[in-house]
Amino acid sequence: MSKQGVEPDELSRPFWQAANANKLVIQNCQQCDRLQHPPLRKCTACGATEHLEWKPMSGRGQIYNYAVVHDGPIKSLHEDQPFNVAVITLEEDSGIQMYSHLPGTPVDEVPIHGNVEVIFQATDNGQKVPEWRVVD
Ligand SMILES: [Zn+2]
Repeated sequence: MSKQGVEPDELSRPFWQAANANKLVIQNCQQCDRLQHPPLRKCTACGATEHLEWKPMSGRGQIYNYAVVHDGPIKSLHEDQPFNVAVITLEEDSGIQMYSHLPGTPVDEVPIHGNVEVIFQATDNGQKVPEWRVVD
């Protein structure tokens, strides 16, 4: 399905640059060893602003939950309806959630708690975005 281009900002740029290199990185606070997503200027747990790093992830996760969009608000996606919007939790931290259309998985055939792995798909402006596909 077609995808809207993403415009990285200063804070999220490392995330998007990694995506263009087919890598998933998540912001990590070195002071309290805690991941957070989306990235913020400071750690929401300890308030650190100077010990935030970008940590490579395994790219494996699980489907936490999902919905099927039949009549969404984004016009450019209307021709692709209905489509999945799944909530993915990362292997490293089930508190980190990402969203996926689960390319290749038909609507209403989404295995809840199924395993997924990250893939990267180019959007309209060439920026790659993480997506997830179901694995056995
Ligand atoms: Zn912290």
